[in-house]
Order: sequence, then structure tokens, then C-alpha cells
Amino acid sequence: MGKPTGFKEFARQTPSYEAAAERVKHYREFTKPLSSEDLAKQGARCMDCGIPFCHQGCPVNNIIPDWNDLVYRNRWAEALEVLHSTNNFPEFTGRICPAPCEASCTLNITDDPVAIKTIEHAIVERGWSEGWIKPDTSKPRTGKKVAVVGGGPAGMAAAQQLARAGHAVVLFEKNAKVGGLLRYGIPDFKLEKSVIDRRMAQMAAEGVELRANAHVGVSISPTELLSGFDAVLLTGGSEKPRDLPVPGRDLAGVHFAMDFLTQQNRRVSGEAVGVADILATGKKVVVIGGGDTGADCVGTSNRQGAASVTQIEIMAKPPEKEDKGLSWPLWPNRLRTSSSHDEGCDRRWSVSTAAFRGENGRLTGLDCFQVDGKFQPIPGTEFKLEADLVLLAMGFVHPVHEGLVDGLGLERDGRGNVKADTEAYRTSNPKVFAAGDIRRGQSLVVWAIREGRQAARSVDAFLMGRSDLPRQ
Ligand SMILES: Cc1cc2nc3c(=O)[nH]c(=O)nc-3n(C[C@H](O)[C@H](O)[C@H](O)COP(=O)(O)OP(=O)(O)OC[C@H]3O[C@@H](n4cnc5c(N)ncnc54)[C@H](O)[C@@H]3O)c2cc1C
Ligand code: SF4
Repeated sequence: MGKPTGFKEFARQTPSYEAAAERVKHYREFTKPLSSEDLAKQGARCMDCGIPFCHQGCPVNNIIPDWNDLVYRNRWAEALEVLHSTNNFPEFTGRICPAPCEASCTLNITDDPVAIKTIEHAIVERGWSEGWIKPDTSKPRTGKKVAVVGGGPAGMAAAQQLARAGHAVVLFEKNAKVGGLLRYGIPDFKLEKSVIDRRMAQMAAEGVELRANAHVGVSISPTELLSGFDAVLLTGGSEKPRDLPVPGRDLAGVHFAMDFLTQQNRRVSGEAVGVADILATGKKVVVIGGGDTGADCVGTSNRQGAASVTQIEIMAKPPEKEDKGLSWPLWPNRLRTSSSHDEGCDRRWSVSTAAFRGENGRLTGLDCFQVDGKFQPIPGTEFKLEADLVLLAMGFVHPVHEGLVDGLGLERDGRGNVKADTEAYRTSNPKVFAAGDIRRGQSLVVWAIREGRQAARSVDAFLMGRSDLPRQ
């Protein structure tokens, strides 16, 4: 434990942001890191509880009290080692994890949890800047070949673990670069892409072979993988977006959020967009869907210079503050306002869309109505919204079945995801495994990393009869 009285002496502190009016002029990250002294104080606030609820709240079971203590004691290199023992990519989670660990922190009972995510971010960035993060090639080669299909966080975590176990790993990715939704969904202002590149360079040095522009099920036959590799792990994500099939859906100006976000991420990195530009510049934008994807559309629209941004959500407005007696240490349902919302957005709840309206084939607005708690229309609440651009950000229903999943003839679960359990991660084909969003459905980066790590252990045990890789 850092300092027995730390939580009474020091207030919670998290990084501040560049002012909204300034940060919307660019696509870079805008958090201002804390000093080492301030971070030590934040580490000192950890009470090293008898039952560390944060440890259970974190999906990769990060050993949080230990690294809090090490940061307080200025032992950063050891803190990095403990952090990496459970999480391959703390620089991803330290930036974009919603931090369920902080919801579980005992100090959250009084609304001032330890700044766990801030400390995690600081430890790993210190590791990179000090040159402590190096390729790990310590294990002898096994001669076994594994194909990992899908280069998102699940595939990256699995590929790194399997290469470190000594296997020859090929990571197949249909896009030009790896990273999955970290690369092509999440905007640069939340996660700059050089953060993925430096980790990929480490993985390449560890022996992971990256095959980009390799679309399994389209340009590569899935059955070729079965014959060419000793095991195949699918980490292709949940890429089928939820649609809104109301009248006017085919009007020009109604787009899926991912089509819009991917284009902007490609522009920032200098990759060709390849299709007609979808831009919010000068437009009245309506984002349908109140989650992370919707918030990213709000932030991107403001950066592109939208005339106005409105976000509508079918769920009722959550309470500003949760009832801790009912929710703690679990993840509470409460109003979340992201930095993108603070940059300018009119948010409306309990709203459903009846139709898109247009003229000459182009969108001009939406017909909406308010709904009750059971999503039933409330008579007399109909209203119109003007819009030149609608972005559909209502989540993803399941993985794309055509090509990869159907090509391997895999069983699916009731929701259309690839069927596999969380012990063995094995699909209906004994040589094929599945992890991340392709198995669990749309989720979080930290869950993808957890599943990638656990599936890697299962694949290693399948190939070698046993595994020394951690399940955590
Ligand atoms: C806009 C947006 C914002 C988000 N923001 C957050 C956030 O702030 N915090 C958070 O924790 N989570 C966030 N999420 C969710 C998070 O990004 C995902 O849960 C996570 O990336 C899933 O990881 P994955 O590796 O399973 O799949 P993905 O990241 O989807 O990666 C799958 C990869 O497989 C590739 N692929 C698919 N099929 C094939 C094939 N047949 N052949 C070759 N390659 C293939 C894809 O191109 C992709 O690169 C967000 C999601 C979106 C869409
Ligand atoms: S990965 Fe997420 S839940 Fe785990 S310690 Fe980091 S911020 Fe918390």
C-alpha cells in the first residue's frame, strides 16, 4: 500500500484537456499529462483494499494496487512489468477504456476513485519514452504455424502471445494496416495511430508476420488456411452494422457511422479514401445512436466544421448520478458526457425516427417522435429535425457471415456470432478458434485483449499439449 493516509490527503486528479475551441481545429490527442509528482500522489491514494474490487472490475484483471504502489514509490520500470503481465497494450486501454475498474474502486463510493486509467497510461508511456519496451524473443521456436485472421486488438493480443510462446504466427488483415476499430473506427483525437504502429513494430521484431490487404474468404480461401496452418484463430470483429429500415433510408446523405469515421481516419493518415467523400462540413448533422460510435461522429463532425450537430437516442436519459447502494461495485447506468459532447452537440433522448425526408433524392430532414419506457410512441409528440447528413451509429448486429465464417462452415450462436466458449475458445471446427467481437458481439477493447490472450493460451495448449501462457 502506497500511503495509508494518501486517500485523505490528496484529491483525485485526472489530466486536463486543451480548450474545446482549440482542439476542434485538429485531429490530434489533446490530454495534458500529469507530472510524475502528481502521479505519485494519485498512486498514494490507493488503499490496497483487502478485496481489490478494481482487480475484478477490470476485464484483463490488471493488478492495479501493485502498480499504484510502485508508482508512488517511484519504481516505474517494475510498475510496467506488472502492468504488462496482464495487458499487452496498456497504451490502448489507458487512452480509451471506459475504466470499469474505477467504477469498482472503493473510493468510488464517495465519487472520487483512484485515477487508475491515468496511472496506467502514464506507466506505459514512460516505458516507451525510456526505451524499456523491447521485443521479447526469449522462447525457442516450436515449428508450429498459426493463422490469426483479423488485426484488431483481439488478433494483435493473440498474435503477440502466440509468437512469444514460440509459434510462427501470420496475422491476416483485410485492410492496408492493422489495428481494427482502433485504426479505422476510433478517431485520432482519441488515439493517434502511431500508438498502434510502434506496437506493431515490436510484434514484427518478435516474429509476427503481418499480411495486410489479405481478405480471408474473398482474396484468400479459408480452407487454404486449414491446410496450411496447424491452428486458425478468428478475430475478425463484429462488422455488420445495425440499419434503420424506415422510409427514405435510400436518400443520399444517410450513411453508416463507420463509413464516415473510416474515411476521416484514412484522410488523417494519408491513406486513399477510395470512394465518394462523406463530409459534415457546413451541414446540419444528426447522429442516431448515443454510444461511443455516436460520440466519435459528434467529435469528427465538429472538426470537419458542421453547421450543427444533434444526437438522438431511443433510450431514456440516464440519471446524472447513480445510486451507489444499488450499483457499486458494478458498472452503473448514468449519464456520460464525453469530451466530444463538450465540443458542441444538442443531445436528445427517448427519440425514435419514423422516416427520413428528402427532395430530389437528397436528405432534408427526419420525422421523429418521443417514446415511452417501452419504446412505444407517445401520441402527439411528433416533431421534425432538419438534416443534410444522418449518421447511423446504432451498433453492430454480428460478424459478417459471408466468406470467412460461412466459408469455414462454422456454427453460430443465437445472435449470429461465431459459437465458441470462453474456456477453450474453440469453434465447431476443432482446429479453428474465435475471440473478441466476432465471438462475444460488439464490446470493448479491453475485452478483446482479454479474449485474445485467453484464446492464445488455448491454441498453445492445443498445439503443445500444455501451455505456460497466462489466462489472465
Ligand atoms: C467508432 C467506434 C468507437 C469505439 N470506441 C471504443 C472506446 O472508446 N473504447 C472501447 O473500449 N471500445 C470502443 N469501441 C469498441 C472496440 O473498438 C471493439 O470492441 C474492439 O475493437 C473489438 O476488437 P476485435 O479485435 O474483436 O475486432 P475489430 O477491432 O473489429 O478488428 C477486427 C479486424 O479484423 C479484420 N477482418 C475482418 N474480417 C476479416 C477477414 N475476413 N479477413 C481479414 N481480416 C478481417 C477487420 O478489418 C479488422 O481489422 C468502439 C467501436 C467503434 C465502432
Ligand atoms: S484496462 Fe480498463 S478496466 Fe482495466 S485497469 Fe485499465 S482502465 Fe481500468
